[in-house]
Amino acid sequence: MAWGIIATWRMALEGIIKAKEILENGQSSLDAVETAVNMVEDCPEYRSVGYGGLPNENCQVELDAAFMDGDTLSIGAVGGLRDFKNPVSIARKLMQEKFNIFLVGSGAEEYAHKTGFERINMLTEYSKKEWYKKRKEIYDKNLNPYDGHDTVGMVGLDKRGKIAVATSTSGLFMKKHGRVGDSPLSGSGFYADSKIGAASATGLGEDIMKGCISYEIVSLMDKGYHPQYAAEYAVYNLNKKLIDRRGKAGDISVVCMNNKGEWGVATNINKFSFVVATDSQKPTVYIASFSNGKTTYKEASREWINTHTE
Ligand code: ASP
Repeated sequence: MAWGIIATWRMALEGIIKAKEILENGQSSLDAVETAVNMVEDCPEYRSVGYGGLPNENCQVELDAAFMDGDTLSIGAVGGLRDFKNPVSIARKLMQEKFNIFLVGSGAEEYAHKTGFERINMLTEYSKKEWYKKRKEIYDKNLNPYDGHDTVGMVGLDKRGKIAVATSTSGLFMKKHGRVGDSPLSGSGFYADSKIGAASATGLGEDIMKGCISYEIVSLMDKGYHPQYAAEYAVYNLNKKLIDRRGKAGDISVVCMNNKGEWGVATNINKFSFVVATDSQKPTVYIASFSNGKTTYKEASREWINTHTE
């Protein structure tokens, strides 16, 4: 049977290469997606996810993550989690619970501690330095503090037809203590149904959560639309709605895949990278862009891949 995996941003590449082996071996999409997202979380060079993530206004790294099993529709999510190594694995663990599946702040940390997750300081020296630099720039130049973000969002389909989706992020740079974005919110940052497909979003959480964009994409695929059509329709519909009602729309990008391994991508920004691997396609990084009301994409060059992390 067909298998495939698609993820937001170039930072997913090394994880997708590993996940491809897992899926090729016939293992579960839950394991493939978790392994790949863990690799992004563990890498300090990927500065908007996990270890070395972007600090909040108090120079603390607060992480959001979610996991969904498209067979059972089980969900687990954490918000504003500090000092634990792999938020996505904590979210996966929470999927097993019947109650209390979405935990935030100290409640999420207590759960992670009790269930044996490793506690480490997620703030690196580099992130601390960037925080001080940014704080100075904000005061000196009156800049918008929230111009750094990026979530790894990943959809995996295994040979048995199980679809899993996961997200992990440090959210907006300099966000308020306690701010939670769209990434752990079911329907906005992610959604999966193995009978149909799954989707995940990245961009400005405050705007993404004004629509239930991931759920909408899955609903459109359920009506028979190709993932590419579903992704573009949902992104440009929300983009237009936000512009009509509020004068502007923040960054919105999505990836999705249906239960046949067909995939789609859409963005309202100029450069959105994503990574795909399927049974008929080796792991490939693409760069998507928005022009004339449409999403177009091209394969990234080796040089671009070597010099970019997001
Ligand atoms: N959507 C994330 C958030 O708002 C950030 C991102 O994906 O760029 O927290």
